Amino acid sequence: MLIVTKPGISQETFEALLDEIKRQGYTPHISEGESHTLIGAIGAPPTPELMEHFRALPGVDQVIRISKPHKLASWEVHPEPTVLDFPTGRTGNGHFMVAAGPCGVESREQILAAARYVKRHGAQMLRGGAFKPRTSPYAFQGLGREGLELLAEARAETGLPVVTEVTSPDLVDLVAEYADVLQIGARNAQNFALLKAAGGSGKPVLLKRGMSMTLDEFLMAAEYVLSEGNPRVVLVERGIRTFEKATRFTLDVSAVPVLKSQTHLPIWIDPSHAAGTREYVTPLALAGIAAGADGIIVETHPNPGEAKSDAAQQLPEEAFADLMQAVRRLLPAVDKALAVSA
Ligand code: PEP
Ligand code: MN
Repeated sequence: MLIVTKPGISQETFEALLDEIKRQGYTPHISEGESHTLIGAIGAPPTPELMEHFRALPGVDQVIRISKPHKLASWEVHPEPTVLDFPTGRTGNGHFMVAAGPCGVESREQILAAARYVKRHGAQMLRGGAFKPRTSPYAFQGLGREGLELLAEARAETGLPVVTEVTSPDLVDLVAEYADVLQIGARNAQNFALLKAAGGSGKPVLLKRGMSMTLDEFLMAAEYVLSEGNPRVVLVERGIRTFEKATRFTLDVSAVPVLKSQTHLPIWIDPSHAAGTREYVTPLALAGIAAGADGIIVETHPNPGEAKSDAAQQLPEEAFADLMQAVRRLLPAVDKALAVSA
């Protein structure tokens, strides 16, 4: 239920209202608007009597029932688009960001080289997995803590904030010590213990869509992070499983406008994991941007042929530079601006 307060409500009345919301078994989430303050009262669907009760309280302007289960992600509770700020750029509400880097951190030379050139070509964030969720237990699992340290070194040199994946709840504290943004991968998108732990970390969360998740389930996964009091979530469409085998996954471009109609959170596209093959990465990135994405996360490797994971989809430097050119040309057509990396 959404409670809209009257303009000019006194602090005392506002606090009494919050107390009453809690007394009735709801958790209040406050959103300050220009003239009104909105309180999302999160809990069981309210009875008509309870809604009447709140309507009659001092300082209450309107009480609105929200039927969507993903309340905190919804426009009703948060009518302004969420914008995430980083030292190098912003995402959301017309601000576009590019995160780029290798699939996994493999060595000092590799991550530093990638960080330097992605920055030079205009990316605002460095990606790189230190903990890799691999389908096979025998495949490269990532450098772990050493990988995090290398990412921190790359950030110190380039100034690029770092996004890296956290694969289990017990790793959240460690990864949050180093990362600017916690990535939750497709294979963990409904690991509810991990979503809660990431929500509690206070770090922004880049949440990938699970490969078999509906958009409602995706929004509910985001709701887990938001309900821990962490408002900084980016949703990433990275391709879903379909019968088509020509690409690794099928990029669901419709996810962008559909999610935009349902949520205030920034929506990004990951063309790399959808494509699986480098030649499709740029067209898919551009399709996502044309559909309204607020950012992209792209895999690029100084020497893709030697990559220890996802070799076929990682762009070499020149192809990444071409992608950035194409992105720059398209953005003005969709009224978006790419921040200039500091
Ligand atoms: C990744 O970003 O390297 C990754 C494993 O992505 P996803 O979880 O989308 O497969
Ligand atoms: Mn990858």
